Amino acid sequence: MSEKMIVIGGTAAGLSAASKAKRLDPSLEIQVFERSGYISYGACGLPYFVGGLIDEPEDLVSLTVDQVTNQRGIPTYIHHEVTKIDREARQVTVVDLDRNTEQVYPYDKLVIATGARPIRPNIPGVDAQGVYCLRTVEDGIRLKRAVTAQGKKQVAIIGGGFIGLEVAEELALSGLEVHVFEMLPRLLPFLDESFSTAVLNVLTSHGVQVHTGAAVEALLTEDGAVRAVRTGDGAETPADLVLLSIGVTPNSELAAAAGLELGVKGSIVVDDGMRTSDPAIWACGDCVQMKNRVTGRPCHVPLGTTANKQGRIAGANTAGGHDTFPGVLGSMVTKVFDLYIAATGLSLQQALEAGYDAVSSVVTKGDRASYYPGGHDTRICLVLDRKSGRLLGAQAIGGESVAGRVNVFVAAITCGMTVEQVNELDLVYAPPVAPVYDPILIAASQAMKKVEK
Ligand SMILES: Cc1cc2nc3c(=O)[nH]c(=O)nc-3n(C[C@H](O)[C@H](O)[C@H](O)COP(=O)(O)OP(=O)(O)OC[C@H]3O[C@@H](n4cnc5c(N)ncnc54)[C@H](O)[C@@H]3O)c2cc1C
Repeated sequence: MSEKMIVIGGTAAGLSAASKAKRLDPSLEIQVFERSGYISYGACGLPYFVGGLIDEPEDLVSLTVDQVTNQRGIPTYIHHEVTKIDREARQVTVVDLDRNTEQVYPYDKLVIATGARPIRPNIPGVDAQGVYCLRTVEDGIRLKRAVTAQGKKQVAIIGGGFIGLEVAEELALSGLEVHVFEMLPRLLPFLDESFSTAVLNVLTSHGVQVHTGAAVEALLTEDGAVRAVRTGDGAETPADLVLLSIGVTPNSELAAAAGLELGVKGSIVVDDGMRTSDPAIWACGDCVQMKNRVTGRPCHVPLGTTANKQGRIAGANTAGGHDTFPGVLGSMVTKVFDLYIAATGLSLQQALEAGYDAVSSVVTKGDRASYYPGGHDTRICLVLDRKSGRLLGAQAIGGESVAGRVNVFVAAITCGMTVEQVNELDLVYAPPVAPVYDPILIAASQAMKKVEK
């Protein structure tokens, strides 16, 4: 008799798991249950949908329910919420949200890919009309509708993380007055301080008003709708649209209620093969705990790249494989107006907190031959262990090329290279794409000066 597998959550991690498992073991009877009205969507594109660069929500979707169900042979149900996992009976309770009916489905193997959700701060006015989050396609549709509605002029974005800043860019480009409130003294605080200043400058030069060291205490309302944001210093900033963007928390309540082990920030503990504390249950994506590849310590870094890879690994292993997930460096890239920002590995503060005798080194270098038109300055910050010279982290800001350059550092950190070894890399050169001494080599050679002799 064929085995039954159930996947909870139908986006990056869940559908990767279902597709991989079905490909490896076509005899598996797999069902996917998704609470929202969309599957297989790129949440990463939502800021650009809200800003109008992407027209339709369907443009963000890679696979439809029909394609997954009929072409891949994986019956997939939207508006179906799993409300309980019964580990003893090996069954899940599913509510059909359209019909308001409940049904129980048995499983031999279960994959939890429930992702994460935006954190809602516990402040007055947070449930008022005009207050939004951005996570699902439906969130994006609601926010875009509000942004394009007549009369909406002033936007307050609470949280200066990369999602908040991407939306700030898009809404400022749409002509709205945008304020960003960041509780910490600077934006993107994992970056070198001078990089945070560069991000602040590019935002303000495009008209975005940034309030750092500004904890929002209350959202002031009138007739149930938000009208202003009040910060700790008592200042009130008018806002008729508020986006909450202060981070996410794993959707691990189902797992917790089922007695599965939880770890960092309430994420689900899994082994290298994405198996939870119950051998019949795997978990993957933003709902699980990960291992930091530099420190070896548990962490929770919710990113789409990771979710897709973990989903494939969970899927392969439910189909009898022995794949392993090696952990994360937290590699990220984003763009704020014309400034690109990329980072990987540990920031200086993280490295010091992890017990390294760490030091950082910052250089600025053009990303093309100096005589070739159109280049940008690239600023690179390397974080290294002072004694061994081992590279622990890297950050870069500048033009589009920072992504590729940081990816080189990703490889270097993964291989445990020292800055001296990075300095010896045989990198490419041609005037339109790189100077003879690439910014990577300049950064490494400068960082070598900080290594203890
Ligand atoms: C605006 C934005 C921009 C981003 N940009 C980037 C980027 O540039 N690069 C990057 O790497 N990452 C980015 N991310 C993060 C990336 O989107 C997530 O890491 C990724 O979506 C995680 O995938 P997941 O499948 O683990 O979880 P999710 O995408 O959260 O999917 C989980 C799904 O499970 C469903 N679900 C939850 N509970 C239940 C239940 N009980 N029953 C049924 N269904 C349930 C949810 O409805 C959801 O659809 C961005 C995220 C956002 C919101």
